[in-house]
Amino acid sequence: MNITLVPGGNPGPYTGAGNNTYLISGKTPTLLDAATGESSHLVALAEALAGQPLGQVLVSHAHQDHVDGCGSIAARWPITCFGKMLWPERDCLQSVDFFPISDGDLIPAGDGMLRVVHTPGHAPDHLCFLDETTGTLFSADLVVQGSSVVIPNSHGGSLAQYLASLRLVLDIAPHRMLPAHGQAIDSPSEVISTYLEHRLQREAQIIELVRVGVGWPDALVKRLYPGIRPELKPMARESVLAHLVKLQEEGRARDDGECWVLT
Ligand SMILES: [Zn+2]
Repeated sequence: MNITLVPGGNPGPYTGAGNNTYLISGKTPTLLDAATGESSHLVALAEALAGQPLGQVLVSHAHQDHVDGCGSIAARWPITCFGKMLWPERDCLQSVDFFPISDGDLIPAGDGMLRVVHTPGHAPDHLCFLDETTGTLFSADLVVQGSSVVIPNSHGGSLAQYLASLRLVLDIAPHRMLPAHGQAIDSPSEVISTYLEHRLQREAQIIELVRVGVGWPDALVKRLYPGIRPELKPMARESVLAHLVKLQEEGRARDDGECWVLT
C-alpha cells in the first residue's frame, strides 16, 4: 500500500502534536480520518493527492479530532464519499452524510483492500482498518505509544469493551500499527501487552484505595495522577470512573451514594 502521513495540524492537550491522517494512493484514493479541517491539513492533503481526486474518507470514530474536518474536505473535494460506523447522536453534528461500515467489511482502498475491525471501548463506534497483505493496522485511538488512552465513561466509553478490543487486536497480531496520534508502532504485541498490564495495575491500585476508604472519584484522581495538569483532570476522572463501572459490572464494587465501596 502506498501510504502518506498527512498531519492534521491540530496540536493540543488531547491531540499531542496533532492528529495523523493517512492517504492511501492508487485506484481508490482513500483518506483515513478527517482531522479538524485546519487549512494546513487541506494544503498537505492536496499536495499528497497531486491532482488525483479523493475517492473516500473512512472515519475511525466520531470524536471531534477525527471527524470535524469532513465538512471542509467535502467543500474542497465535492465528490468524496465519507464512511464510518454509525453513531447517530454524534454523526448528526456533521454536515456530511456517512455511508455505514461495519465489522468485517472489506473496503477497496488505494490498490488494495482494508478489513474493518470494530474495536469499541474508547468510543462505541471505534474502528481499526487492517491491510491484510502487509499486516498494517490503522489503529486510530486504540493505543498511543508513550501515553494511555482515555476511556470517556460518561460519553460512550467502556473499559470492559476496551480491554476486549485490545485482546482482539493482540490475536490479529498486526506487524505494525499506524495510530491517529504519535509515532508508528513497530512492535504492536509488545505495546498492547504493556497496555493490558497497565490497566490491570491501575485496577489493582483502585481496588486497594477503595478498600481503605478512598472511594470518591476526585480523591482517586488526586492519588492516582499526582501533579496532573488541571485541563486534563476531567478526562482522568472519566478514566477512574470507567474502572469503577467495570468493577461494578463484575459485581466487585458499587456506588454507595457519592462514594464507591467494594462488595
Ligand atoms: Zn478519540
